[in-house]
Amino acid sequence: MTDGLPQGSNDLIQYPSQTPFTSPTCRLHPQTTCPAFVALRMLSRLEGAQPVLVTDAGCFYGLSFINHFYGARKSILAPAVGTAELSSGKLQEAALAAIEEAARDPNVSLIPVLSLCVSETAGLVEELLPRESHGKPVVLIRMPSYAVHAHPDAKDIVTAVLLRRFADTASPTEEKTLVLLGEVFAADPLMIDGVLRKMGARVLVTLPGRRIDEVRLAGRGAAVAALHPFYRESLTVLRERGVAVVGGAPSGAEGTAAWLHAVGMALELDEQLVEQVAREEEEKALRFLDAQPLKGFTVLVSGYDGNEMPYTRLLVESGAYVPYLSTSIAQSALTAADEAWLRARGTEAVVYRKTFEDDQKALLHWKFDLAFSGTTMLASYAKHHGIPAVYFTNILSVRPLFLSGGMIASISTVRELLNRRHIYRQMLDFFKE
Ligand code: SF4
Repeated sequence: MTDGLPQGSNDLIQYPSQTPFTSPTCRLHPQTTCPAFVALRMLSRLEGAQPVLVTDAGCFYGLSFINHFYGARKSILAPAVGTAELSSGKLQEAALAAIEEAARDPNVSLIPVLSLCVSETAGLVEELLPRESHGKPVVLIRMPSYAVHAHPDAKDIVTAVLLRRFADTASPTEEKTLVLLGEVFAADPLMIDGVLRKMGARVLVTLPGRRIDEVRLAGRGAAVAALHPFYRESLTVLRERGVAVVGGAPSGAEGTAAWLHAVGMALELDEQLVEQVAREEEEKALRFLDAQPLKGFTVLVSGYDGNEMPYTRLLVESGAYVPYLSTSIAQSALTAADEAWLRARGTEAVVYRKTFEDDQKALLHWKFDLAFSGTTMLASYAKHHGIPAVYFTNILSVRPLFLSGGMIASISTVRELLNRRHIYRQMLDFFKE
């Protein structure tokens, strides 16, 4: 280590690696908690919403437990559905009774009804549910885990259902406004708004949020940008309503400039002004990146909800070698540009719908200096092998990521983590002795 600047273990990087990486074939091990949990978390946080869970007692027990663990501060209504109710066809009546109960509460203004594996299999009939009860909207969200593969998909489904029902498209479009999609660090939309204002535009709202008014407002945006590349259904809903779609995210020097130009085109902004602001942002980022703060380091990125792609771009632009990137999201048109960009710069394996076994195998396939992990399991596995590992949720997602400011904050954190690599080696030696 010299003057605080860490030195990587792979100063002479040879890539591609000698043996191509292949995913393990066994995919029988469950990889995630029930995706309905994420839907429940989002809906519980909506002001005035009283979620109704239509499922059996087993789902209800697990989901309500984890929901309160994540600080829901709201009870969940659920009809008591067991074998007797399912076999006697009382499911529909039980759901209606729970909706009625929710609607009678004067503090409730919205009733999301989550239909899970059991009720979907038993045949909850959408047409027989009310669209309103006591003047309060009732919204059915189908969330069986046999059809919803991962948490990001659940986020997209909830957002899309709410947009389809509530997005205000009757009012005039708010010119030169952008809707952001993605559960991002709170400062990121503010920083994006600050830069857009220099171009004569602004951020209208960021979804998913905590108020149904924000969903309404999103329908008045002139363009939408999914900062995480999995909001396919939500983008479809807004596209159908004539809202322009901006691809990618303002991540890294090149990515930020390209994104700002795309926003400029979508919102029909002054070209010269956009060019000037994009160049300023790019130059700021390049001044930092020119020092190649991560040159010589090999980093594994295993994410789960879309942040991993913009993060990997930052690492690569900072000089790091990232041969392996895995994610829980599906491959789609929204991931294509980032994947092509990364593959052209040395990322050999991009694994969608990844499993823990994929990540385990990858960790031993290359020689890593640091692992970014979407799960605590992989973080533990990496530390067990003396490799520093950080969990996305605790360390990385609590910092800004986008534009030059986010990039500097994130890469500085990575540098600090790399500075502490020797501690992990000492730990390994200690336990070997
Ligand atoms: S049965 Fe389906 S909805 Fe219920 S907890 Fe299991 S995966 Fe989730």
